[in-house]
Amino acid sequence: MHTREPHDPLDLTLVSSHRTSEGVVSYLRCSCGVWEVRTALLVGTATPRGHDRR
Ligand SMILES: [Zn+2]
Repeated sequence: MHTREPHDPLDLTLVSSHRTSEGVVSYLRCSCGVWEVRTALLVGTATPRGHDRR
């Protein structure tokens, strides 16, 4: 078993995301089959920019 191996963001597919009391939680699935759960706090600087922002 691998231990917290980082996955290529390009291999991650956003499956679903929803808002909680702590912010938006995103569920992503890697092409290798691993699921990742990201919260607004964890993503931070990884959030895509330039989308729907004026
Ligand atoms: Zn992976």
